[in-house]
Amino acid sequence: SEMQPLLSVRDLHAWYGEGHALHGVNLDIHQGETVTLLGRNGVGKTTTLRSIMGIIRKRTGTINFHGKDMMRVPLHRTAHAGIGFVPEERGIFATLSVDENLNLPPIVAKGGMSIAEIYDLFPNLKERRNSPGTKLSGGEQQMLAIARILRTGVKLLLLDEPTEGLAPVIVQRIGEVLVTLKQRGMTILLVEQNFRFASKVADRFYVVDHGRIIDNFHVKELPDRMTMLNEALGV
Ligand code: ATP
Repeated sequence: SEMQPLLSVRDLHAWYGEGHALHGVNLDIHQGETVTLLGRNGVGKTTTLRSIMGIIRKRTGTINFHGKDMMRVPLHRTAHAGIGFVPEERGIFATLSVDENLNLPPIVAKGGMSIAEIYDLFPNLKERRNSPGTKLSGGEQQMLAIARILRTGVKLLLLDEPTEGLAPVIVQRIGEVLVTLKQRGMTILLVEQNFRFASKVADRFYVVDHGRIIDNFHVKELPDRMTMLNEALGV
């Protein structure tokens, strides 16, 4: 599309101490797209999300989101800027109930979902509304983590391996939720090792290797890429 990307990342480098983890990542995401980062363990997928959020402070390059220079936006202001992050470890409050978890996030923008809308999208969370985080299954915790971010009204959702360790039926449910969010106009950047899941939800893919993007392609091009993906990822 000729439209300006919603998120544009150029020559992004990031370091853990002296460890140079990203070596010039370039990527664009347009409004309404679901984009997946693929790659083996340790190539820099999580680091890319954490650098966009400003969790990793030692970074260079440019990150433009909706006309805003995200290199100047501190972590605690990223939600106000319109980006939400669901980390692999989920980050819900274990001692608080589902309801309490859903009432904590600040509503930073119009379009933040009401509790009623959240429970429409996640009926199983509604059934568990008075249960503490510790009593939830892995799948329910993942849904709660996503739901909390949807309360805020962010425009771009960064998800780090949302299906990890979950049963196939829950993985499918999360896939349905992402497709619903996409139909409502949400833009999603996903790190995913579950290639089958990724190929059902993503419009486009970036392949990450050694801290760089080595390929990008549309979901339609997937059949032509299978040999390369097999070699690069062992999928
Ligand atoms: P995974 O799926 O295993 O998380 P990944 O592609 O997301 O893989 P990253 O977690 O981004 O990879 O890691 C990229 C590189 O940065 C790796 O070499 C990793 O060892 C290193 N790294 C990640 N986290 C840290 C950290 N907290 N301290 C030091 N080095 C780190």
